[in-house]
Amino acid sequence: MILISSCLAGYKVRYDGSAATNKLAVWLVTHGQAITMCPEIMAGFDIPRLSAEIVGGTAREVLAGQATVKEIDGNNVTDKYIFGAALVLKIANENHVSAAFLKDGSPSCGNCRVYDGTFKGKKVSGKGITAEVLAKNSIKTFSDTELSVANVMPYLDDEAKRNLRSTIL
Ligand code: SF4
Repeated sequence: MILISSCLAGYKVRYDGSAATNKLAVWLVTHGQAITMCPEIMAGFDIPRLSAEIVGGTAREVLAGQATVKEIDGNNVTDKYIFGAALVLKIANENHVSAAFLKDGSPSCGNCRVYDGTFKGKKVSGKGITAEVLAKNSIKTFSDTELSVANVMPYLDDEAKRNLRSTIL
């Protein structure tokens, strides 16, 4: 089973109330090949909500208690981000998830790049908290920029493979 960030599947759950709809993500969910999760909503954040960034280190350092996640007003939301990631991991394991396609840039879902903690719109290499937790637990993580037919094929059942090959997205 594949895990996909809810916003990629069309759900308007981003901090500003928008979605980041990706046609292949929607296809995977509607064909029973993927489940969706939003760690921030699962942690109890509202829509809309304040933007947040990892401050003072990497996701790995957040998990080690050496860095934090803060909202733009300075509020420390580290515990909620870790809680959301733990819930995602629990459900991923219960659903035998082996690969996750995650919205890049997010302090939760970012897989290749995240904002640098200055709230000035600058990105750096790194993972969000949920992506880090999934990767640490042997789930293969991809960013949405890697959401391609070639990358999802190994995780589909045989019927879905046939269907996807004959589908023009
Ligand atoms: S936490 Fe992940 S799933 Fe939720 S809106 Fe942000 S990028 Fe999308």
